[in-house]
Amino acid sequence: MTLNDLTQMFSTDEQCRALLKKLRWPYGVECLRCKSKKVFELAEYAKFECGECGYQFSVTTQTIFHDTHLPLETWLMAVLLLVEARKGMSANQLKRTLRIGSYKTAWYLCHRIRAAMKELDRMMLDGTCEMDETYVGGRHRGAGLRGRGAGKEIVIGIRQRSQEGRTGELRFFHASDVKSGTLARYIRESVSQDVDVIVTDDFSAYPFAMRKAAVTAEHKRINHSSGVYVEGDVHTNTVESAFSLLKRGIIGSWHKISAKHLPAYLDEMQFRFNRRKNPDLFIDTLRHMITADPLTFANLIA
Ligand SMILES: [Zn+2]
Repeated sequence: MTLNDLTQMFSTDEQCRALLKKLRWPYGVECLRCKSKKVFELAEYAKFECGECGYQFSVTTQTIFHDTHLPLETWLMAVLLLVEARKGMSANQLKRTLRIGSYKTAWYLCHRIRAAMKELDRMMLDGTCEMDETYVGGRHRGAGLRGRGAGKEIVIGIRQRSQEGRTGELRFFHASDVKSGTLARYIRESVSQDVDVIVTDDFSAYPFAMRKAAVTAEHKRINHSSGVYVEGDVHTNTVESAFSLLKRGIIGSWHKISAKHLPAYLDEMQFRFNRRKNPDLFIDTLRHMITADPLTFANLIA
């Protein structure tokens, strides 16, 4: 799907609603209250009424599109721009590109699309996985701070290497520390019991984390502290390239990132990354949006 395709195929509210209807109810419109399929289209524009319980609704009722003041065409365009921007896109950029009236509206729009980009079904990673940690953001640099990454946010990355034509998946976590117990928790959450190899650097917490997570796979370590970065297939370059994409995204498009919203950005990057070879990314995201819980502004700023 290109921007050109989109403007040709979905340039009216009616066309957008028809698409959302297909995605929300692939087997025919269903009452939102009683699940009955005996649903009638009302003469009033885009409204349905249930023949069983009388409930009236539209394709956007109880979804993130509900109560929106933006045209659906703009929503669709925003989704396409966000899924196509590899490094992400800031609310300001979206506001300018789509000529959205206020920054707040554009910001809210970005976050609602991000909420839909959350992974719904995470599979456990197997084969060879690389694990590493990185530090992002943080305005207080230097003076008075001790230790690596002081004042910054910690991101843990686990990336499965590609194998047999299958692209490896990525997991990002916003961590509060890099203690072995914390690392172990992320390993248990993401890595399958059948994983063959886990590659990390020589950071001292990893061997303890492997033990705590009860990983039986081989743990290979690359000696970063002595300046060695690749030794045959022992390296963490694959997860590091995902980190560099994340950092370019933070610097290039989000500018300043608050710790509170970091998990949402990580979800977005991860979602896009894991679907980078998926030609249906746009439709998949829209499908998530029309089936996911609505995210209210009050929830978002809470
Ligand atoms: Zn009903």
